[in-house]
Amino acid sequence: MQKFKLFINNEWVDSSDKKTFQSMNPSKNEPIAELSMANEADVDRAVKVARKTFDSGVWSELDGDQRAEYMMKAAQIMRKRLKELARWEAMDVGKPIYEAENVDIPYSIRAMEYFANQAREIQGEVIPLPGNYAFDWVSYEPYGVVATITPWNFPLHIATRCICPAIATGNTVVAKPSSLAPITPTILGEIFLEAGLPAGVVNIINGPGNTTGEALASHPDVNMISFTGSLQIGRRLMELSAKSPIIKKVILELGGKGPFIAEPDCEIDAAVNSLIVGFCLMQGEVCCASTRLFLHEDIYDVFMEKLVRRVKSLKLGDIMDPSTQMGSLISKEQLEKVDGYVKGAIKEGAKLVCGGERYTEPPCDRGFYYKPTILENVKNTMKCAREEIFGPVLVVMKYKNLDDAIAMANDNQYALGATFWSENPKKLFYAGRKLDAGIVWLNTNVMSKIEAPYGGNKNSGLGREDGRIGLKEYLKVKNNVLFIGKEYDNFYKFKD
Ligand code: NAP
Repeated sequence: MQKFKLFINNEWVDSSDKKTFQSMNPSKNEPIAELSMANEADVDRAVKVARKTFDSGVWSELDGDQRAEYMMKAAQIMRKRLKELARWEAMDVGKPIYEAENVDIPYSIRAMEYFANQAREIQGEVIPLPGNYAFDWVSYEPYGVVATITPWNFPLHIATRCICPAIATGNTVVAKPSSLAPITPTILGEIFLEAGLPAGVVNIINGPGNTTGEALASHPDVNMISFTGSLQIGRRLMELSAKSPIIKKVILELGGKGPFIAEPDCEIDAAVNSLIVGFCLMQGEVCCASTRLFLHEDIYDVFMEKLVRRVKSLKLGDIMDPSTQMGSLISKEQLEKVDGYVKGAIKEGAKLVCGGERYTEPPCDRGFYYKPTILENVKNTMKCAREEIFGPVLVVMKYKNLDDAIAMANDNQYALGATFWSENPKKLFYAGRKLDAGIVWLNTNVMSKIEAPYGGNKNSGLGREDGRIGLKEYLKVKNNVLFIGKEYDNFYKFKD
């Protein structure tokens, strides 16, 4: 079994107490790698290295072009290793190889390239002040040490989405991937080493959130936490930041409960297809998944017939088979949680249209596969319509009036992605304005590109990743004021 150590100061090291843990392939329920588990002393070592490296200026004082060159080299190496990275990603998460090869790894390479180029052109601003007595300009500076704490559903994509803007802007990083799928973010260490990044710029440590993650998030030398994960842990990290001797900058990318509204004038075939990607991609373990369908009564029957027929035809299977469309959930616990929500919904009065059970056809019998599931007769007040299930489960609600549908869509603690389908441009614009979400998809779905900001409102998080807006999250703002008037100020009217 392949072993991965901790990556600290450009060296691969054991944890100080030599403890390790295994990462599993959930589609077979078997271990695939052994990783060193960082304890508090190891976390302290990694953060101190990142601090010293930042303060030394070997990275933070580099020209943006030079930082970009290192990152472009890293992107080239990733491209060469694309197939290998995709295999690890598929196995570690239980996702189809087709998705890993076509979504996860290409997106991660793009993040490395995009943010490399952004490093070259971080711009400030000049602010005109009344009276022509001062020249006022805004400049941007790195925070220092950034802790990136990331989840298991898109391990490399989300790790790069956080690490790349952090280093492009001159910060140093201590990254902690999820211990449920840590392999590809750990391989980034090999990639940065080969690309020649100075020692200590990126450090990668592994271990469980409640020990390794807590030690990292509460370390006084960490200036910023970039977190993607659940609401519960997001709240905890805000608490840790608040208790820190010097409060930390925190950005949070949390959960979702994405609404999908289909108006009677929508292109039904296309809307159905886009909805299925919305709740079945990555087995529904996606923060911006479309999991609440608000379907207009006039198209209800025809839409549902196509939806159910197509969902039933999705191929669950061996994740390494390129024709497989859905893989395994991440763990037995996740499978039980998803099934619990479905059983609970049926008890509350929902009607099971399809799915609702584990999929056990060989070779999937050892893994944690769950059939894509649709529940009808759901009320927006039911638990299955209010909470994030994080599995391939869609709840369906019928509506008559567009404003009622929008009100129901907005009536949730989460506000990450929202989707609306219609062929009427006025309605598209209206819904775009009224839906409370960080991302509104109009006649498309779950499209997320590194060039555009990504993130949510309410309990979906704070701040944004990606794009120029995301890049700025990793920079402190400094306002500079230079006096250029004729006479210096003498507010107290001193005479001598
Ligand atoms: P999670 O349980 O919150 O874990 C996320 C990360 O935090 C993992 O690395 C985890 O480590 C770590 N962690 C756990 N407890 C911690 C603590 N006390 N202190 C510091 N770190 C701690 O979330 P998840 O189950 O991995 O991911 C699913 C959630 O992420 C869903 O809610 C999903 O919607 C959200 N998500 C959001 C986005 C977005 O962009 N908005 C994208 C993807 C996922 P261990 O796993 O090693 O314990």
